[in-house]
Parts: sequence; structure tokens; C-alpha cells
Amino acid sequence: MASIFTKIIQGDIPAHKVAENTDYLAFLDINPLVMGHVLVIPKKEVDYIFDLDDETYLGLHAFAKEVAIGLKKAVPCVRIGTAVVGLEVPHVHIHLVPMNTMDDLNFSRPKLHPGTQELEKTAELIRNSLLER
Ligand code: AMP
Repeated sequence: MASIFTKIIQGDIPAHKVAENTDYLAFLDINPLVMGHVLVIPKKEVDYIFDLDDETYLGLHAFAKEVAIGLKKAVPCVRIGTAVVGLEVPHVHIHLVPMNTMDDLNFSRPKLHPGTQELEKTAELIRNSLLER
């Protein structure tokens, strides 16, 4: 069965997309640690990041770097933290999290539950920031 992220890629379920090319997609985490929490995925559906072929693995990180640079301009913060967890969704994803304190990257703390409008406003800010690059 297709992963929930493949369903997003196929347009079967909605997402607040911030960047896309033929091989990769970036969209907002629906339950962010902090506002501006982005997930970056390869369109190729693979569960575990270290099972990716080298080309996809390296391309994913290059794409994540571009998104992170735009994200930091859109959501001012000390730096963008990255994490790969994958315990919930079996489709490779890099978390990009705008960080001001160490606790911003604490996956054990309660997640936020922003509304669609707030998420879309944030996604638009990030998309605009990426367009300026
Ligand atoms: P993990 O697999 O543990 O790295 O976490 C998966 C992440 O995906 C969590 O932070 C979820 O909030 C997020 N997530 C799950 N479903 C969706 C969705 N439909 N759209 C956006 N983010 C999602």
C-alpha cells in the first residue's frame, strides 16, 4: 500500500507544499514541533534512509539544503536543525526545524496542532522566500 507521503505526492491527500522538483518534495509537517517545521522527501518510496541509492540520498540532502536556506529567511531562527526519525511514517523524510533552543528539536514534547489557514500562511512565506533565491 502507498505510504501517506506517496499519497501526498500523487495528490490524493492535501499538503502544504513549499518546494518540489521531479525527484523531491518539501511540505509542512502537519503537527509541527515549531511553526515552519518542514519535511523533505524523495518521491521514490523507500522506508529507511540508509536503504536509498547514493544518487537519491545525496540529491535529497542537496534539495533539503536549498529548502533550509529559504526556510531560515522565512522563519527567523538561530539555525535550522535536521533530524531523521521515521518511526511513524515508513517513507524517507528529513525533518527541517527552525531552532532557537535545543528543546525545539525535542520529539518527545507535545506537537503543535495549527489550523489549515495558519499552515498555509507559513507555507506561502517559505515558498516566497525560496522564490527570492
Ligand atoms: P517520523 O516518522 O517519526 O519521523 O514522523 C513523521 C512525521 O510526519 C510526524 O512529525 C508527523 O506529524 C508527520 N506527518 C504525518 N502525517 C502527515 C501528513 N499527512 N502531512 C504532513 N505531515 C505528516
